[in-house]
Amino acid sequence: MADKQGFDTMAIHAGAAADPATGARQVPIYQTTAYAFRDAEHAARLFNLQEVGYIYSRLTNPTVAALQSRVAALEGGAGAICCSSGHAAQILALFPLMGPGRNIVASTRLYGGTVTQFSHTIKRFGWSAKFVDLDDPEALKAAIDEDTRAIFCESISNPGGYVTDIPAVAKLADAAGIPLIVDNTLATPYLCRPIEMGASLVVHSLTKFMTGNGTVTGGAVIDSGTFDWSASDKFPSLSAPEPAYHGLKFHETFGALAFTFHGIAIGLRDLGMTMNPQGAHYTLMGIETLGLRMPRHVDNAQKVAEWLEQDPRVESVTYAGLASSPWNATARRLYPKGAGSLFTFSIKGGYEAAVKLVDALELFSHVANLGDARSLVIHSASTTHRQLTEEQQRAAGAAPEVVRLSVGIETAEDLIADLDQALAKATA
Ligand SMILES: *Cc1c(COP(=O)(O)O)cnc(C)c1O
Repeated sequence: MADKQGFDTMAIHAGAAADPATGARQVPIYQTTAYAFRDAEHAARLFNLQEVGYIYSRLTNPTVAALQSRVAALEGGAGAICCSSGHAAQILALFPLMGPGRNIVASTRLYGGTVTQFSHTIKRFGWSAKFVDLDDPEALKAAIDEDTRAIFCESISNPGGYVTDIPAVAKLADAAGIPLIVDNTLATPYLCRPIEMGASLVVHSLTKFMTGNGTVTGGAVIDSGTFDWSASDKFPSLSAPEPAYHGLKFHETFGALAFTFHGIAIGLRDLGMTMNPQGAHYTLMGIETLGLRMPRHVDNAQKVAEWLEQDPRVESVTYAGLASSPWNATARRLYPKGAGSLFTFSIKGGYEAAVKLVDALELFSHVANLGDARSLVIHSASTTHRQLTEEQQRAAGAAPEVVRLSVGIETAEDLIADLDQALAKATA
Protein backbone atom coordinates (compact mmCIF):
# COMPACT_ATOMS: atom_id res chain seq x y z
CA MET A 1 0.00 0.00 0.00
CA ALA A 2 2.58 2.56 1.16
CA ASP A 3 4.77 1.84 -1.89
CA LYS A 4 1.99 2.93 -4.26
CA GLN A 5 1.40 6.26 -2.51
CA GLY A 6 3.05 9.51 -3.51
CA PHE A 7 6.03 10.89 -1.60
CA ASP A 8 4.05 13.68 0.09
CA THR A 9 1.30 11.27 1.18
CA MET A 10 3.85 8.94 2.76
CA ALA A 11 5.62 11.89 4.41
CA ILE A 12 2.40 12.61 6.32
CA HIS A 13 0.76 9.20 6.73
CA ALA A 14 3.40 6.44 6.71
CA GLY A 15 3.62 4.81 10.13
CA ALA A 16 1.00 7.12 11.60
CA ALA A 17 -2.55 5.80 11.73
CA ALA A 18 -4.83 7.24 14.44
CA ASP A 19 -3.75 5.97 17.87
CA PRO A 20 -5.55 2.63 18.45
CA ALA A 21 -6.08 3.31 22.18
CA THR A 22 -7.38 6.90 22.08
CA GLY A 23 -7.99 7.93 18.48
CA ALA A 24 -5.36 10.67 18.87
CA ARG A 25 -4.74 11.79 15.30
CA GLN A 26 -1.17 13.04 15.72
CA VAL A 27 1.34 10.37 16.82
CA PRO A 28 1.40 10.56 20.64
CA ILE A 29 4.68 10.88 22.52
CA TYR A 30 4.75 7.53 24.33
CA GLN A 31 6.79 8.82 27.24
CA THR A 32 7.27 5.44 28.88
CA THR A 33 10.25 3.24 29.68
CA ALA A 34 8.41 -0.08 29.87
CA TYR A 35 5.23 -1.88 28.70
CA ALA A 36 3.03 -4.20 30.78
CA PHE A 37 3.21 -7.84 29.67
CA ARG A 38 -0.14 -9.65 29.31
CA ASP A 39 1.26 -12.59 31.30
CA ALA A 40 4.51 -14.50 31.87
CA GLU A 41 4.09 -16.49 28.63
CA HIS A 42 3.73 -13.23 26.62
CA ALA A 43 6.88 -11.85 28.25
CA ALA A 44 8.85 -15.00 27.44
CA ARG A 45 7.74 -14.96 23.79
CA LEU A 46 8.78 -11.30 23.42
CA PHE A 47 12.20 -11.92 24.94
CA ASN A 48 12.74 -14.93 22.63
CA LEU A 49 11.84 -12.83 19.53
CA GLN A 50 8.98 -15.29 18.89
CA GLU A 51 6.50 -12.41 19.00
CA VAL A 52 7.00 -8.77 18.05
CA GLY A 53 5.99 -6.25 20.70
CA TYR A 54 7.17 -3.66 23.16
CA ILE A 55 9.45 -4.62 26.05
CA TYR A 56 11.61 -1.67 27.05
CA SER A 57 12.22 1.68 25.33
CA ARG A 58 15.96 1.13 24.86
CA LEU A 59 14.85 -1.33 22.15
CA THR A 60 11.46 -0.17 20.91
CA ASN A 61 8.93 2.58 21.57
CA PRO A 62 5.70 3.27 19.62
CA THR A 63 6.59 6.90 18.75
CA VAL A 64 10.03 5.85 17.53
CA ALA A 65 8.45 2.90 15.68
CA ALA A 66 6.16 5.30 13.78
CA LEU A 67 9.20 7.28 12.67
CA GLN A 68 11.01 4.07 11.66
CA SER A 69 8.06 3.09 9.44
CA ARG A 70 7.98 6.56 7.91
CA VAL A 71 11.67 6.78 6.99
CA ALA A 72 11.61 3.18 5.69
CA ALA A 73 8.64 4.08 3.45
CA LEU A 74 10.25 7.29 2.15
CA GLU A 75 13.52 5.52 1.33
CA GLY A 76 11.74 2.46 -0.14
CA GLY A 77 13.36 0.14 2.42
CA ALA A 78 12.11 -3.03 4.14
CA GLY A 79 12.75 -1.64 7.62
CA ALA A 80 14.54 1.04 9.62
CA ILE A 81 16.17 1.55 13.00
CA CYS A 82 16.13 5.02 14.52
CA CYS A 83 18.81 6.04 16.97
CA SER A 84 20.27 8.94 18.93
CA SER A 85 22.31 10.70 16.21
CA GLY A 86 23.67 10.43 12.69
CA HIS A 87 27.00 9.25 14.06
CA ALA A 88 25.22 6.57 16.09
CA ALA A 89 23.50 5.45 12.86
CA GLN A 90 26.88 4.95 11.19
CA ILE A 91 28.12 2.69 14.02
CA LEU A 92 24.78 0.86 14.09
CA ALA A 93 24.98 0.28 10.31
CA LEU A 94 28.52 -1.09 10.50
CA PHE A 95 28.14 -3.12 13.70
CA PRO A 96 26.48 -6.27 12.21
CA LEU A 97 28.89 -6.28 9.25
CA MET A 98 32.21 -5.75 10.98
CA GLY A 99 34.58 -7.48 13.36
CA PRO A 100 38.20 -7.10 14.42
CA GLY A 101 40.46 -6.96 11.36
CA ARG A 102 37.64 -6.01 8.98
CA ASN A 103 37.62 -2.79 6.97
CA ILE A 104 35.35 -0.52 4.96
CA VAL A 105 36.22 1.42 1.82
CA ALA A 106 34.96 4.97 2.25
CA SER A 107 34.76 7.98 -0.04
CA THR A 108 37.32 10.75 0.45
CA ARG A 109 34.43 13.22 0.21
CA LEU A 110 32.69 12.89 3.57
CA TYR A 111 31.48 15.01 6.48
CA GLY A 112 34.53 15.86 8.65
CA GLY A 113 33.06 14.19 11.72
CA THR A 114 32.68 10.97 9.75
CA VAL A 115 36.30 11.13 8.58
CA THR A 116 37.35 11.39 12.24
CA GLN A 117 35.04 8.55 13.32
CA PHE A 118 36.36 6.30 10.54
CA SER A 119 40.04 7.33 10.83
CA HIS A 120 40.42 7.07 14.59
CA THR A 121 37.49 5.94 16.71
CA ILE A 122 36.49 2.73 14.89
CA LYS A 123 40.07 1.48 15.32
CA ARG A 124 39.19 0.91 18.99
CA PHE A 125 36.89 -1.87 17.74
CA GLY A 126 39.63 -3.31 15.51
CA TRP A 127 37.87 -1.91 12.42
CA SER A 128 39.50 0.35 9.85
CA ALA A 129 38.64 2.46 6.80
CA LYS A 130 40.45 3.02 3.51
CA PHE A 131 39.59 6.33 1.87
CA VAL A 132 39.40 6.42 -1.93
CA ASP A 133 38.07 8.76 -4.61
CA LEU A 134 34.85 6.96 -5.62
CA ASP A 135 34.88 8.72 -9.00
CA ASP A 136 37.88 6.45 -9.79
CA PRO A 137 36.48 2.90 -10.28
CA GLU A 138 39.95 1.35 -10.60
CA ALA A 139 41.06 2.83 -7.27
CA LEU A 140 37.84 1.57 -5.68
CA LYS A 141 38.30 -1.95 -7.04
CA ALA A 142 41.93 -1.98 -5.91
CA ALA A 143 41.00 -0.91 -2.38
CA ILE A 144 38.50 -3.76 -1.81
CA ASP A 145 40.17 -6.79 -0.20
CA GLU A 146 38.93 -10.00 1.41
CA ASP A 147 38.41 -8.24 4.75
CA THR A 148 36.30 -5.42 3.25
CA ARG A 149 32.72 -5.57 4.51
CA ALA A 150 31.13 -2.43 3.03
CA ILE A 151 31.56 0.62 0.82
CA PHE A 152 30.49 3.93 2.40
CA CYS A 153 29.66 7.22 0.68
CA GLU A 154 27.44 10.29 0.92
CA SER A 155 24.86 10.88 -1.85
CA ILE A 156 25.50 14.64 -1.77
CA SER A 157 28.65 15.26 0.24
CA ASN A 158 29.44 17.65 3.05
CA PRO A 159 30.90 20.29 2.79
CA GLY A 160 31.38 20.73 -0.96
CA GLY A 161 27.94 19.59 -2.11
CA TYR A 162 29.58 17.16 -4.57
CA VAL A 163 27.41 14.27 -5.81
CA THR A 164 28.18 10.54 -5.94
CA ASP A 165 27.40 8.29 -8.91
CA ILE A 166 25.58 5.76 -6.69
CA PRO A 167 24.61 3.26 -9.48
CA ALA A 168 28.25 2.99 -10.59
CA VAL A 169 29.51 2.42 -7.04
CA ALA A 170 26.66 -0.02 -6.27
CA LYS A 171 27.67 -2.15 -9.25
CA LEU A 172 31.19 -2.53 -7.87
CA ALA A 173 29.83 -3.34 -4.40
CA ASP A 174 27.60 -6.05 -5.92
CA ALA A 175 30.53 -7.53 -7.83
CA ALA A 176 32.50 -7.72 -4.57
CA GLY A 177 29.57 -9.25 -2.65
CA ILE A 178 29.47 -6.45 -0.09
CA PRO A 179 26.79 -3.84 0.73
CA LEU A 180 26.94 -0.19 -0.30
CA ILE A 181 25.99 2.14 2.57
CA VAL A 182 24.88 5.62 1.51
CA ASP A 183 24.65 8.57 3.92
CA ASN A 184 21.62 10.36 2.46
CA THR A 185 21.57 13.22 5.00
CA LEU A 186 22.18 16.10 2.58
CA ALA A 187 19.89 14.86 -0.19
CA THR A 188 17.04 13.36 1.87
CA PRO A 189 14.80 10.85 0.05
CA TYR A 190 13.14 13.84 -1.65
CA LEU A 191 16.22 14.46 -3.83
CA CYS A 192 17.73 10.97 -3.88
CA ARG A 193 16.54 7.40 -3.20
CA PRO A 194 19.79 5.41 -2.89
CA ILE A 195 18.05 2.01 -2.59
CA GLU A 196 16.50 2.49 -6.05
CA MET A 197 20.03 3.13 -7.33
CA GLY A 198 21.38 -0.11 -5.84
CA ALA A 199 22.41 0.78 -2.27
CA SER A 200 21.83 -1.91 0.37
CA LEU A 201 21.73 0.36 3.42
CA VAL A 202 21.00 4.06 3.90
CA VAL A 203 22.00 6.11 6.94
CA HIS A 204 20.73 9.51 8.01
CA SER A 205 21.46 12.28 10.39
CA LEU A 206 17.80 13.13 11.08
CA THR A 207 19.22 16.17 12.87
CA LYS A 208 19.47 18.01 9.55
CA PHE A 209 16.93 18.41 6.71
CA MET A 210 14.67 15.53 7.80
CA THR A 211 13.64 17.33 11.02
CA GLY A 212 14.43 20.59 9.28
CA ASN A 213 14.44 23.15 12.06
CA GLY A 214 17.48 22.54 14.25
CA THR A 215 15.59 21.07 17.23
CA VAL A 216 16.59 17.40 17.36
CA THR A 217 19.65 15.16 17.32
CA GLY A 218 18.71 11.85 15.71
CA GLY A 219 19.73 9.20 13.22
CA ALA A 220 18.38 6.29 11.19
CA VAL A 221 19.58 3.20 9.36
CA ILE A 222 17.30 2.00 6.56
CA ASP A 223 17.69 -1.52 5.18
CA SER A 224 16.73 -2.28 1.57
CA GLY A 225 15.97 -5.87 2.63
CA THR A 226 17.52 -7.12 -0.59
CA PHE A 227 21.12 -7.97 0.35
CA ASP A 228 21.77 -11.73 0.61
CA TRP A 229 23.61 -12.00 3.94
CA SER A 230 23.89 -15.80 3.54
CA ALA A 231 25.53 -15.77 0.09
CA SER A 232 28.99 -15.93 1.69
CA ASP A 233 30.45 -16.45 5.15
CA LYS A 234 31.34 -12.73 5.37
CA PHE A 235 28.40 -11.73 7.58
CA PRO A 236 28.14 -14.30 10.40
CA SER A 237 26.23 -11.91 12.69
CA LEU A 238 23.32 -12.17 10.25
CA SER A 239 23.81 -15.63 8.74
CA ALA A 240 25.25 -17.79 11.57
CA PRO A 241 23.62 -18.92 14.86
CA GLU A 242 23.43 -16.09 17.43
CA PRO A 243 24.47 -17.37 20.87
CA ALA A 244 22.64 -14.57 22.73
CA TYR A 245 19.31 -15.77 21.22
CA HIS A 246 19.62 -19.58 21.64
CA GLY A 247 21.32 -20.08 18.26
CA LEU A 248 18.71 -18.14 16.22
CA LYS A 249 19.89 -17.24 12.69
CA PHE A 250 18.70 -13.71 11.88
CA HIS A 251 18.72 -14.00 8.09
CA GLU A 252 17.08 -17.42 8.01
CA THR A 253 14.43 -16.39 10.56
CA PHE A 254 13.59 -12.81 9.55
CA GLY A 255 14.46 -12.76 5.83
CA ALA A 256 14.26 -9.20 4.43
CA LEU A 257 13.94 -7.84 7.99
CA ALA A 258 17.10 -9.60 9.28
CA PHE A 259 19.22 -6.44 9.44
CA THR A 260 16.43 -4.41 11.07
CA PHE A 261 15.74 -7.05 13.74
CA HIS A 262 19.47 -7.42 14.43
CA GLY A 263 19.86 -3.65 14.70
CA ILE A 264 17.17 -3.51 17.37
CA ALA A 265 17.58 -6.83 19.19
CA ILE A 266 21.40 -6.67 19.35
CA GLY A 267 22.48 -3.18 18.23
CA LEU A 268 20.15 -1.00 20.31
CA ARG A 269 19.95 -3.58 23.11
CA ASP A 270 23.73 -3.66 23.66
CA LEU A 271 25.04 -0.36 22.28
CA GLY A 272 22.11 1.62 23.69
CA MET A 273 22.13 4.52 21.17
CA THR A 274 18.38 4.89 21.51
CA MET A 275 16.30 7.74 20.09
CA ASN A 276 13.98 9.33 22.66
CA PRO A 277 10.23 9.48 21.90
CA GLN A 278 10.04 13.28 22.07
CA GLY A 279 12.82 13.58 19.49
CA ALA A 280 10.99 11.08 17.26
CA HIS A 281 7.81 13.19 17.55
CA TYR A 282 9.57 16.40 16.42
CA THR A 283 11.16 14.53 13.52
CA LEU A 284 7.81 13.06 12.45
CA MET A 285 6.36 16.58 12.35
CA GLY A 286 9.37 17.89 10.46
CA ILE A 287 9.10 15.18 7.81
CA GLU A 288 5.46 16.14 7.14
CA THR A 289 6.72 19.22 5.27
CA LEU A 290 9.88 17.72 3.71
CA GLY A 291 8.38 17.77 0.21
CA LEU A 292 7.55 21.48 0.56
CA ARG A 293 10.84 22.53 2.13
CA MET A 294 13.34 20.77 -0.13
CA PRO A 295 12.34 22.47 -3.42
CA ARG A 296 12.69 25.87 -1.68
CA HIS A 297 16.10 24.91 -0.24
CA VAL A 298 17.28 23.88 -3.71
CA ASP A 299 15.80 26.96 -5.43
CA ASN A 300 17.42 29.31 -2.94
CA ALA A 301 20.77 27.48 -3.10
CA GLN A 302 20.77 27.76 -6.89
CA LYS A 303 20.00 31.50 -6.76
CA VAL A 304 22.59 32.21 -4.07
CA ALA A 305 25.28 30.09 -5.79
CA GLU A 306 24.66 31.79 -9.17
CA TRP A 307 24.80 35.23 -7.58
CA LEU A 308 28.03 34.44 -5.70
CA GLU A 309 29.70 32.96 -8.79
CA GLN A 310 29.32 36.16 -10.81
CA ASP A 311 30.51 38.41 -7.96
CA PRO A 312 34.07 39.74 -8.40
CA ARG A 313 34.75 39.48 -4.64
CA VAL A 314 34.29 35.69 -4.85
CA GLU A 315 37.01 33.34 -6.08
CA SER A 316 34.97 30.14 -6.68
CA VAL A 317 31.75 28.30 -5.73
CA THR A 318 31.46 24.49 -5.38
CA TYR A 319 27.70 23.97 -5.89
CA ALA A 320 26.99 20.96 -8.16
CA GLY A 321 23.93 22.79 -9.51
CA LEU A 322 26.25 25.25 -11.33
CA ALA A 323 27.25 24.50 -14.92
CA SER A 324 30.87 25.20 -13.91
CA SER A 325 30.93 22.29 -11.42
CA PRO A 326 32.73 19.08 -12.48
CA TRP A 327 29.77 17.25 -10.87
CA ASN A 328 27.06 19.15 -12.78
CA ALA A 329 26.47 16.41 -15.38
CA THR A 330 26.17 13.71 -12.69
CA ALA A 331 23.88 15.96 -10.68
CA ARG A 332 21.57 16.54 -13.66
CA ARG A 333 21.48 12.81 -14.49
CA LEU A 334 21.03 11.33 -10.99
CA TYR A 335 19.67 14.21 -8.89
CA PRO A 336 17.14 15.82 -11.25
CA LYS A 337 15.27 17.57 -8.41
CA GLY A 338 18.42 19.43 -7.40
CA ALA A 339 21.83 19.16 -5.78
CA GLY A 340 20.78 20.10 -2.26
CA SER A 341 21.48 23.35 -0.47
CA LEU A 342 24.93 22.94 1.07
CA PHE A 343 28.06 24.19 -0.66
CA THR A 344 31.22 26.20 -0.09
CA PHE A 345 32.68 29.29 -1.69
CA SER A 346 36.09 30.93 -1.56
CA ILE A 347 36.37 34.63 -0.84
CA LYS A 348 39.16 36.78 -2.23
CA GLY A 349 41.34 37.99 0.66
CA GLY A 350 42.00 34.66 2.39
CA TYR A 351 41.51 33.77 6.04
CA GLU A 352 41.08 37.37 7.24
CA ALA A 353 38.32 38.13 4.73
CA ALA A 354 36.51 34.84 5.46
CA VAL A 355 36.44 35.53 9.21
CA LYS A 356 35.22 39.11 8.63
CA LEU A 357 32.49 37.86 6.30
CA VAL A 358 31.17 35.38 8.87
CA ASP A 359 31.13 38.11 11.54
CA ALA A 360 29.37 40.60 9.24
CA LEU A 361 26.51 38.31 8.16
CA GLU A 362 23.21 39.08 9.88
CA LEU A 363 20.60 36.67 8.51
CA PHE A 364 22.99 33.73 8.20
CA SER A 365 23.70 32.26 11.66
CA HIS A 366 27.28 31.24 12.45
CA VAL A 367 26.71 27.70 13.80
CA ALA A 368 28.05 24.15 13.47
CA ASN A 369 24.88 22.71 11.93
CA LEU A 370 23.18 22.41 8.55
CA GLY A 371 19.81 21.58 7.05
CA ASP A 372 17.88 24.12 9.13
CA ALA A 373 15.00 26.27 7.81
CA ARG A 374 17.34 29.14 8.75
CA SER A 375 20.37 29.89 6.58
CA LEU A 376 23.61 28.93 8.30
CA VAL A 377 27.27 29.67 7.73
CA ILE A 378 30.52 28.32 9.12
CA HIS A 379 34.16 29.07 8.51
CA SER A 380 35.67 25.61 8.86
CA ALA A 381 39.33 26.67 9.06
CA SER A 382 38.75 28.66 12.25
CA THR A 383 36.30 26.14 13.82
CA THR A 384 35.72 22.49 12.88
CA HIS A 385 39.03 22.10 11.01
CA ARG A 386 41.07 24.35 13.31
CA GLN A 387 43.42 21.58 14.52
CA LEU A 388 44.54 20.67 10.98
CA THR A 389 47.55 22.01 9.07
CA GLU A 390 46.77 24.28 6.12
CA GLU A 391 47.60 21.41 3.76
CA GLN A 392 45.12 19.11 5.56
CA GLN A 393 42.52 21.89 5.53
CA ARG A 394 42.88 22.28 1.76
CA ALA A 395 42.57 18.50 1.22
CA ALA A 396 39.37 18.48 3.29
CA GLY A 397 37.80 21.33 1.25
CA ALA A 398 38.20 23.63 4.26
CA ALA A 399 40.97 25.93 3.07
CA PRO A 400 41.45 29.21 5.01
CA GLU A 401 39.48 31.27 2.42
CA VAL A 402 36.55 28.79 2.24
CA VAL A 403 33.15 29.43 3.83
CA ARG A 404 30.36 26.82 3.99
CA LEU A 405 26.72 27.83 3.50
CA SER A 406 23.60 25.84 4.35
CA VAL A 407 20.97 27.81 2.45
CA GLY A 408 17.61 27.98 4.25
CA ILE A 409 14.07 28.62 3.06
CA GLU A 410 13.87 32.39 3.64
CA THR A 411 13.30 34.86 0.77
CA ALA A 412 16.26 34.41 -1.58
CA GLU A 413 16.66 38.14 -2.25
CA ASP A 414 17.14 38.78 1.48
CA LEU A 415 19.87 36.12 1.67
CA ILE A 416 21.66 37.65 -1.31
CA ALA A 417 21.37 41.16 0.18
CA ASP A 418 22.90 39.87 3.43
CA LEU A 419 25.81 38.26 1.58
CA ASP A 420 26.26 41.44 -0.47
CA GLN A 421 26.61 43.72 2.57
CA ALA A 422 28.88 41.22 4.38
CA LEU A 423 31.13 40.77 1.33
CA ALA A 424 31.46 44.55 1.15
CA LYS A 425 32.63 44.72 4.78
CA ALA A 426 34.91 41.68 4.43
CA THR A 427 36.74 42.94 1.35
CA ALA A 428 36.77 46.69 2.17
C1 LIG B 1 25.74 15.95 10.63
C2 LIG B 1 26.09 14.82 9.77
C3 LIG B 1 26.38 13.55 10.31
C4 LIG B 1 26.37 13.29 11.79
O1 LIG B 1 25.08 13.42 12.31
P1 LIG B 1 24.78 13.83 13.85
O2 LIG B 1 23.30 13.76 13.93
O3 LIG B 1 25.36 15.18 14.08
O4 LIG B 1 25.47 12.77 14.68
C5 LIG B 1 26.67 12.54 9.44
N1 LIG B 1 26.71 12.73 8.10
C6 LIG B 1 26.46 13.93 7.55
C7 LIG B 1 26.52 14.08 6.07
C8 LIG B 1 26.16 15.01 8.36
O5 LIG B 1 25.92 16.21 7.80
